[in-house]
Amino acid sequence: MEKICVAVRLRPPATQDSSGGTFWKVDENRVSLHKVHGTPISGVSYAFDHVFDETCSNSRVYDLLTKDIIHAVVEGFNGTAFAYGQTSSGKTFTMNGSDTDPGIIHRAVRDVFERIHMMSHREFLIRVSYMEIYNEEINDLLAVENQKLQIHESLERGIFVAGLKEEIVSNAEQVLKLLEAGEVNRHFGETNMNARSSRSHTIFRMVIESKEKDINANADVIRVSVLNLVDLAGSERIAKTGAGGVRLKEGKHINKSLMSLGNVINKLSDGAKNRGHIPYRDSKLTRILQPALGGNAKTSIICTIAPEEVHVEETKGTLQFASRAKRITNCAQVNEILTEAALLKRQKQEIEELRKKLQGSHAEVLEQEILKLRNDLLQNELEREKLETELEEERKSKLNNLGSVDTLSDFGGSSCQPQDSGRQSLKEECNDSISKSQGALFTTPSSKAAPNAFVAKRSNYSPLPSFSPLPDAFSNVVDEDTWMKMNKGYIADLDSIQMTPARKVQSFPPSDATPGNSNENHEQEVQNLKRQLELAIEERDDLKRKHDEQVRKHEEQVLLNNQLLSEISELQQEAQLIREIPQRLGECAATCKDIYVDVLSTTQSYISDEKSSVAKLLSSITEIGTSLFTTLEVDFSVPIADQRSWIQEQHKVLSERLSNTVKLLVSSETVNSEDGQARKSQECAMGGDAASWKEKLSNELNTIKERHHDLAKELDSHNQLLKNSKQRYEILETEFQLLKEERDSLHKAASESSERLLLITEQKENIVNYMKEELQRRKDLEEKIKQFSVAFCNRKTSLMSFHNEFKSKVESLKAEYGVSVPKSSNVVQ
Ligand code: ADP
Ligand code: MG
Repeated sequence: MEKICVAVRLRPPATQDSSGGTFWKVDENRVSLHKVHGTPISGVSYAFDHVFDETCSNSRVYDLLTKDIIHAVVEGFNGTAFAYGQTSSGKTFTMNGSDTDPGIIHRAVRDVFERIHMMSHREFLIRVSYMEIYNEEINDLLAVENQKLQIHESLERGIFVAGLKEEIVSNAEQVLKLLEAGEVNRHFGETNMNARSSRSHTIFRMVIESKEKDINANADVIRVSVLNLVDLAGSERIAKTGAGGVRLKEGKHINKSLMSLGNVINKLSDGAKNRGHIPYRDSKLTRILQPALGGNAKTSIICTIAPEEVHVEETKGTLQFASRAKRITNCAQVNEILTEAALLKRQKQEIEELRKKLQGSHAEVLEQEILKLRNDLLQNELEREKLETELEEERKSKLNNLGSVDTLSDFGGSSCQPQDSGRQSLKEECNDSISKSQGALFTTPSSKAAPNAFVAKRSNYSPLPSFSPLPDAFSNVVDEDTWMKMNKGYIADLDSIQMTPARKVQSFPPSDATPGNSNENHEQEVQNLKRQLELAIEERDDLKRKHDEQVRKHEEQVLLNNQLLSEISELQQEAQLIREIPQRLGECAATCKDIYVDVLSTTQSYISDEKSSVAKLLSSITEIGTSLFTTLEVDFSVPIADQRSWIQEQHKVLSERLSNTVKLLVSSETVNSEDGQARKSQECAMGGDAASWKEKLSNELNTIKERHHDLAKELDSHNQLLKNSKQRYEILETEFQLLKEERDSLHKAASESSERLLLITEQKENIVNYMKEELQRRKDLEEKIKQFSVAFCNRKTSLMSFHNEFKSKVESLKAEYGVSVPKSSNVVQ
């Protein structure tokens, strides 16, 4: 049990009017009326939970008065904050605020989402609605076509406004935008905004559902809490004979809702024992706010007062109201439910299915889509609910007529007629039981019918009389005396009053706010589907573009690969050539050897004496030369083709020099044979020549050896070159291998992306089909409703005919017996 938190806020003076004899003084949490020279006026001093002076900001008001309630709402408690006070005292300023100092609603919305982000262990679903009570009619500020909505009550949902648009939201900006749109709707077609806003009540409502994310922890228990932020109509008494009929009517209704609020507060503040019956049902406002006033909610009321002396009496009235409200106690508790009433639960399966379907899309796209689909589901549900209630109303009115016939004729003997006609709810129950006995034709299908046992922990205020509102008879009679006592007859001149400007007011309706019918809804749905399709096409095109890019890259890679391949084959050919060089050089050395042997054998053939020293020398030279060339032939592997001709040339030079030497040798021998004398001396001379020849030849041999050495060196360098080439070839080969692998992976990626593209296209098609099915389902539902109405008509016709028959029977009986029978002409109209 806790008391309602009550605060008073003093507005800054509108004008510097110092003519008055009194002023309001704020001292901590007390406000009192003082004479102008400072002495307090006795009996006019009030203390509250908070009193805010004219310098106080909305931020401070929020922190001290509302913040705790908002936090409790996120935890699962119901919460309500009212602004009460005369017109122009600052209610709207407190609730809506200004650009520089946002009001309670703005701050609460932001705070809710901040708190939610901090509670990462719970999953939340938030929906908002925004309504206005004007002329005792409830209008939807989020959907202009929803006018004159009805209040209903069910075990599952408690008290609710049937057909009121609710929008599922995921961030504060979205909510603030909806509020802005609501303001535009509110003022559409309004000639005098002051007049309307001072006579209407606005209720901004947030329903917060949450559950533990951990599936093991009580996954079936869902917390559902409701936050109401209410900007009440001006509490002043409006002149009943002010300006024409419309104004008169407005005034009367305003009084009714506010008067009921005053009466309810009065009764509730009387204390549990004296309280008696609480007239919540006297007005729409008190009915909607019933849980906030007398039960399961944390509630705060901020009473705004004007400082001007002209408003003193009105301010006193407001302070008296606030004092009474301070005595009210409520008993708030966390609402935990197990039933299907929680939207979070009803939508869970569908959402999971959608989540699966949309897997693979980007996270933010996924969330957006889910939010949109959630809202679509909710809209469908609300629409169905609205149709159901309309049908129910119709059914009740028909059955009432039926009931009259039964009573009159004693036909069917219905025992359900309520004993106390004032107990509307009993009558409703009775109607329910009638409907059940009427068979399937009259049974409205209801997904919400569930046994009481499924409600785990809803407000259990109902069995406790101290704060238990029993359903009351709806009555037009209001306790005007109390009202007069509270409001001392201040009459507001609305035209001269300055108001807090609305968030955003246009003089034309927003394009999407024209009154809709089901066709328009379908159009809307088709538009939505189109938009979804466009999104899907965009995504597909994006993927296509990416795919094409990948293909292009792949082609470039292929080109590069081919280039590298041709380079590699060239290198391979070169390597082959290099490998062949040693063999060719070997061949070359063999040829040289043959030529050398040839030359020497020719030389030997000129020598007649085979046993001469020259012949011996020649043969030894031949042997040496041959072995030299054989070594060359074996070792030769110099890989440059040009060297071959060079070697041949060298060989030629050597051969020439050798043949010259031989010629010289031969001619000198001829001269020696002609002479024939002094053979010994000749032989000596020959010996000297041979020595010089030997020397020459050994020189030649050295030259050849040197040459051989040079060639061997060259061979080494060429071998080194070959090795390097081989290494380069290997590197190129590994590079080629890598490129090949890369190309293959690109190939794979390209095929995967095209597969994904196909999959996404398929998914999108599935969604579109699903939406189409949903559309069809709705059409079917409408068709069923039509059939229903036809069945009703038929029933009515048969009843009419039965009635006529009955009437004629009565007439005939009357004629027969001459007995007077009660009139029944008003039974069936
Ligand atoms: P109500 O909604 O009670 O009829 P408003 O909120 O429209 O009254 O306030 C009337 C005028 O007084 C507006 O111009 C508003 O800006 C101004 N006003 C109200 N309260 C304050 C405040 N605390 N500080 C500054 N200006 C205020
Ligand atoms: Mg206002």
